[in-house]
Parts: sequence; structure tokens; C-alpha cells
Amino acid sequence: MRMELFTVDGLPLIKKGDDLASMICECTELEDHDAVVIASTIVAKAEGAMVLKSDVVPSERAISIAKRIGKDPALVQVVLDRSVEELVECPLLLVENLNGHVSINAGIDDSNVEDNYFLELPHDPDGSAKTIGERIADRCGKDVSVIITDTNGRAFKIGQTGVAVGVYRMHPILDWRGEKDLFGNELEITEEAVADEIASAANLLMGEAAGGNPVVIVRGFDLHTRDDVSVKEMYRPDNEDIIRKGLRCLRQSSD
Ligand code: GDP
Ligand code: MN
Ligand code: MN
Repeated sequence: MRMELFTVDGLPLIKKGDDLASMICECTELEDHDAVVIASTIVAKAEGAMVLKSDVVPSERAISIAKRIGKDPALVQVVLDRSVEELVECPLLLVENLNGHVSINAGIDDSNVEDNYFLELPHDPDGSAKTIGERIADRCGKDVSVIITDTNGRAFKIGQTGVAVGVYRMHPILDWRGEKDLFGNELEITEEAVADEIASAANLLMGEAAGGNPVVIVRGFDLHTRDDVSVKEMYRPDNEDIIRKGLRCLRQSSD
């Protein structure tokens, strides 16, 4: 088996209102069934999902959390504004954002954007992936899958990796349950986070700094295309999430 990953070269600094789909079609020759993997950073910029730092008025709570973790109170306020639950507040701010994605600081930071702004995650990343995918079909007639990624840390391990925050026309999860292993035993547990694995591979080529490579094409991997998909299929239901339960217990006992 073989699959290929390559960057889309020649994309400029992205500004609010930019038509990413057209830009991608102009910069590369897409093929049917490619996966177009896009850094959330440029989707957020194109959609104007950013906050002017000087516009933020931090609450008492934001100021208190910021003091404990040594962060900018304005950043903490923007994170709280985009969160439904704070899972950990100290020594780092781990939250579930309004889309159900759990990450440090709700994926909000001020890297790869002009100095005076915080860049958020796109507000509806599945919607963004769909819009871009459909517009690519319009612009260059190619039927592609889209994954929007962010770089996230992980519990238990050092080092960040790329993860999917939005998907279009692919199963984010590959279900191996019911398949037989080499010895004929039925697999009972394994569901594979394909969207995260592809995101991670693409993130290798994107890099994190000034490389200017926010889009990677993945060619030659069967993504099990279907239409009505959501990255939310990857989020563990609240009542099945023992880590989240544990964190809640810890918070209650420290209150
Ligand atoms: P994130 O993982 O979505 O948070 O994005 P990063 O900030 O890590 O950036 C991923 C890649 O996209 C890096 O190679 C950046 O240099 C590049 N990048 C970020 N913003 C832009 C942009 O506006 N234009 C271009 N061409 N590249 C960008
Ligand atoms: Mn990011
Ligand atoms: Mn990154």
C-alpha cells in the first residue's frame, strides 16, 4: 500500500474574507478522492474568527485564573467565552469549547496572526470543512474530503500532534469491531481515529512556525467517503468519559 502527502505551495498570508477553496484550486492540481487537510489557523483568519486584544474586558474570574496560571487575563477571558466547561483551571486551562472539542485554551492563541489579535478556532469547523469542500467541487470539479486541523497537546505524553477539529466527506472513525484478527478472533473494541491520524501526518508537513504551509493534500488513502459526517462522532459521550468524571471529582474536592 502507498499514500502520498504534499504541501500546497504559494498560499499568501490569509486575510478575512479570503476564498480558501479557490486559492487551493489555483495553487494545486486536485484529484477526486484527495483529502484536503487545512490548518484551522487559516480557516479562522479567513472567517475573521479573531478577537482584538484591546477589546477584551476580563472578568474577576478570568483575572483570578490568569494570575494562578501566569497567563494574560484577556486570553483567559476569550477562552472562557468560547467554553462550555473548564475541566482543569490550574496549572493549565483545559476546556471543552462550544463545539465539544477539548483542548488547552480552547485552541486560542496569538501565534501566526498579527500581534494585537487572539486567533480562535473556527466557530463551526464541520460547517467550514463542508463549505470549502463544496466550493472546491464548484471551482475545479473535484470530489474531495476536507479535514480542518489544529495542533494539540495530549494527556500523559510530551509533544503536540495534529488533530482533526472539523471534517467533510469522510468517516472520522473507522470501526474495526466485528472484523477478525490474524487468528480469527473477533475484534471487540477497536475504533480507529482516522481523521486524527491523517491530521497528524499532514501536520508533519505543515510545521508550527513560519513555514507557510497551512494546506496538505493526502492522496491514495481510502477515506470511506460519505456526506453527513461530523467531527463530533469522535467526542466521547459525557456519561462514558471516565477521565472527565475523574477531573470533576478532583475539582469538587478542591473547592
Ligand atoms: P494550527 O496548527 O492550525 O494552529 O496552525 P499553525 O499556526 O501551527 O500553522 C500551521 C502552518 O500554517 C505553518 O506552516 C504556518 O507557517 C502556516 N500558516 C499560518 N498562517 C498562514 C497564512 O496566513 N498563510 C500561509 N501561507 N501560511 C500560514
Ligand atoms: Mn492552533
Ligand atoms: Mn500547528
